[in-house]
Amino acid sequence: MEEGAKDKAPSLQASDGVEQTAGRGRKRERAGEQDARVSGKALGRMVEAFMKLPGIGRKSAERLAFAVLGMPRDEAEYIARAIVDLKDSSRYCSVCNNITEDDICSICRDPRRDDSVICVVEEPSNILVLEKTGSFRGKYHALLGALSPLDGIGPEDLKIEGLLDRLKTGVKEVILATNPTVKGETTALYLSRIIKPLGISVTRIAYGLPVGGDIEYADENTVQRALAGRREM
Ligand SMILES: [Zn+2]
Repeated sequence: MEEGAKDKAPSLQASDGVEQTAGRGRKRERAGEQDARVSGKALGRMVEAFMKLPGIGRKSAERLAFAVLGMPRDEAEYIARAIVDLKDSSRYCSVCNNITEDDICSICRDPRRDDSVICVVEEPSNILVLEKTGSFRGKYHALLGALSPLDGIGPEDLKIEGLLDRLKTGVKEVILATNPTVKGETTALYLSRIIKPLGISVTRIAYGLPVGGDIEYADENTVQRALAGRREM
């Protein structure tokens, strides 16, 4: 018991120090000042690093940093190595811009998939979501972004040229699965204007209410889109 207590003593002290700093930080924040909430340079850097991830605020970053601190060294190393390996081994597919470790991704290489239908998405992460449904057997094309004139992002900044090259190989339908946002809509409209004249069918994914959701809780834009996209039963 005593030995265990001795082992834990330093880390308990460290976290006590952190708690105090965190408490002061909260008080100062209330007064409108900014303050680092964790003590220790390495710990602070870990928190800053986690905050670079989407959806992670300071509170979550601190919780994650302490979780790493409490891990055995080999587990923490496993995470660090996984991050570096991901960056070193991953690249964009030279055909569709999906994430792959080879020149061409497994979807593009799959001969059982339908070459005549291409589903266009903004980001490679969208491909993963669509693949999870298991209901699409065509191929994909990730644009690596969306048109945004206000941010100075034009057609030349997206992977559109590669898409147009692929359309010369007997593609019959292009499904536009860009996001239902202003940028996504602008992109879909732009693509449909240049692809339709090529005699290729251009479709847009349907918008609607979330499955298992309640109309009462949907915003009016979503309900309006769901109405417009109604189909016969
Ligand atoms: Zn690919």
